[in-house]
Amino acid sequence: MSVLSGELRRYVDLDAAATSSASVTVARAVQDFLPWYSSVHRGAGAKSRYASARYEQARESLLPFVGADPGTHLALFTRNTTEALNTLAFRLDLRPEDVVLTTAVEHHANLLPWRRYARLRVIEVDTRGTFTPQDVIAALDQHPTPRVLAISGASNVTGWLPELARIAGAAQARGVFVVVDAAQLAGHRPIDMTGLGVDALALSGHKMYAPFGSGALVAPRHLLARGEPLLVGGGAVKAVSFDDVVWADAPDRDEAGSPNVLGAVALAAAAHELTSNGWPGLLAHERSLTQALDAELATVPGLHRYGPAAGDRLPVATFNLHGLPHALLAARLAAEHAIGVRSGCFCAHPYMARLLSLSQEQVQQFHRDAQLDQRHQLPGAVRASANRTTSLCDVAALGSAL
Ligand code: PMP
Repeated sequence: MSVLSGELRRYVDLDAAATSSASVTVARAVQDFLPWYSSVHRGAGAKSRYASARYEQARESLLPFVGADPGTHLALFTRNTTEALNTLAFRLDLRPEDVVLTTAVEHHANLLPWRRYARLRVIEVDTRGTFTPQDVIAALDQHPTPRVLAISGASNVTGWLPELARIAGAAQARGVFVVVDAAQLAGHRPIDMTGLGVDALALSGHKMYAPFGSGALVAPRHLLARGEPLLVGGGAVKAVSFDDVVWADAPDRDEAGSPNVLGAVALAAAAHELTSNGWPGLLAHERSLTQALDAELATVPGLHRYGPAAGDRLPVATFNLHGLPHALLAARLAAEHAIGVRSGCFCAHPYMARLLSLSQEQVQQFHRDAQLDQRHQLPGAVRASANRTTSLCDVAALGSAL
């Protein structure tokens, strides 16, 4: 800590796409609740009943936050987006011959759970790392029709926002189950699952100003009402013997183990704060950050940016500086300028391989090296990302440091 203390005092956080610090409002909500938190749905006492009520209120409040219909959808609490997508992929009862349509943009959390159970059909990206709604429609119309479309609401690498409304509408019209990875979207844009035609959605609290360990899966009630849960244990059952089990009703069936009621309260507080602050102010601020990032980086000699150059995007910029390995650049920004960015492949190896125009041979070589545990540096880039807590001065600091 002492080594870092000077750097932390001056710290410029441009790593918002990784994690957003908990807001003061969220911290206060957690602090107020701390003396009262107790086991949920497991005690007769007043504290336990109070904690259970707060937990269920938090669950209810997530539905309007993402524009879900309480008659159709149910929110499950999960640790994060990764757990939500793993749960959903398991609960959809996919067969090996089923096709899941996904995209080359995806974070590993929205690729690996699907690949475990079904065949992937992947929508490719152009050199800017984007695709069009027509590309999605063409892939939807290939035979056989996919069972699921699993797509990011916003890219964690480029901040690109696919045209969800057109894409989800086209998929739903073909009877395809639409899943949105909203890890990056939820803290930056209002979401209307019903209006868009989205069947299920996953999000992480730590990317929308709540702490780690709080996330959600919003999915159709009928899906969660039947079948076996992914995680099994206490709280998920009505009756157990050594050779039989009767699962609890939804949502308890999918929430085995003592629930993270503090996380639920934090997540609900974060969602409430985002909504009640009003989206227009946040959108205007973040748009000015995106423009400032574009302007600052455009003046840096030898800088190469990845991702779309225009259009609506989150305030995320991914780049390399000629002659400087990405990890070294990130380390120097930290050590010399107290600027925190991330470098590497951002848990999106296929997307980065495309953005960096890596050949198939190079990709295969990295897989071989990884198997042999060779510690040489994977190609990657530096990512600077901002959110509502970022100021234009922070972005200017990055520009002058570069
Ligand atoms: N999807 C996207 C687009 C992300 O950015 C992330 C986090 N980097 C995830 C999924 C996974 O989120 P978590 O680590 O909170 O499960």
